Amino acid sequence: MTTYEEPLHDKNSRLEQEVRRLQESVNQLEQRQQEMLTIYQMIEFLQVCEKIEDTSKLLAEFLQRLFPEFSGSVFLKNECNGKFERVTFFGNRADRKTSLEFSQCWALMRGQTHIAGNDQPGLFCNHIDLETQPTQTICIPLVTQAKVWGLFYLRTESPEKISCYQQHLAHTVGKQISLAFYNLKLKEQLRNDSIRDSLTGLFNRRYLDESLKQEIIKAERNQQPLSVIMVDVDHFKNFNDTYGHDVGDMVLRKLAKFLEGQVRESDIVCRYGGEEITLILINTPLDIAKQRAENICSGVRELSLENQGEVLPSVTVSLGVASFPLDGNTGEEIVQKADRALYQAKKAGRNQVVLYQVEQ
Ligand code: GH3
Ligand code: MG
Ligand code: MG
Repeated sequence: MTTYEEPLHDKNSRLEQEVRRLQESVNQLEQRQQEMLTIYQMIEFLQVCEKIEDTSKLLAEFLQRLFPEFSGSVFLKNECNGKFERVTFFGNRADRKTSLEFSQCWALMRGQTHIAGNDQPGLFCNHIDLETQPTQTICIPLVTQAKVWGLFYLRTESPEKISCYQQHLAHTVGKQISLAFYNLKLKEQLRNDSIRDSLTGLFNRRYLDESLKQEIIKAERNQQPLSVIMVDVDHFKNFNDTYGHDVGDMVLRKLAKFLEGQVRESDIVCRYGGEEITLILINTPLDIAKQRAENICSGVRELSLENQGEVLPSVTVSLGVASFPLDGNTGEEIVQKADRALYQAKKAGRNQVVLYQVEQ
């Protein structure tokens, strides 16, 4: 029996091939390990962010590192208008769209990943900018607790098909972004719940106490005035007794919205309690605060109120005004003095403004 002996030359080239294959596997493994490390780092960074806006730059950085041959964007649903708004984008071919509609993306509508390529251009989603000629796109809906509330979208101009591994990586990253944003939303909600009044959406009393302290410190440092206006609805008990508590609630919500519209963005509007609302006017002297209070007084009188088609009588408010540093040195003192002025306004017949200064 004769045994075949592989020629030395063939054996060497076979071994060389084997070594090359092994080297490729090692390279691939190293690359994957690097990707896992990048994902891990990305999660760590996302976890310490306080707000979704803070994530924009760092997400772009990590996504570009994870998907160097792609451009892409992350969109989040705006609960107010239902649109999906761009949180971040990366890559030099990223679409310029800053928002998209639910109905423009197959992945959002179907609740599952959608891959499209220029071999079947009819399958590209409507939000994709086709002028820059993508060869392939992958849209991954961001889903948590069975709710679609975001989109992770990648596009490439490379002629190579998106590999199974790249799809898998995109899914993993999408899942992590989803979880991180969900946690951030919860954090934001918790913070909001602890400083907001649930009926009117205004800041609550706790927030008033904390922020007033800070604002007085700032006003003192910058040698600026600060004014406080206390607003209280007149005869609101009668209103509730006549039209019911729910209608009273609706009036409070409307009043809160109106008051928010009467101040600058830097000013603070709080529900002090019941039907009493406090306005903190930053860098505002007494005479300007008085003018503002007069405008509010007449504006509330003219607010049109209705309930299920029934026109309601208008309500009036009484207002007390006090200022820092004129009427006191601490926030507590200024609020007390504004409250005293409010009491005088009630005594004088309601539906009017009283300044603490004038009354003394
Ligand atoms: P005044 O002009 O002296 O302020 O009279 P008033 O009736 O407004 O004042 P009073 O302090 O006697 O009564 C406050 C009323 O405000 C009674 C209460 O039912 C109503 N109120 C307080 N909080 C709420 C609320 O959250 N919703 C509704 N609907 N009513 C509220
Ligand atoms: Mg009242
Ligand atoms: Mg009251």
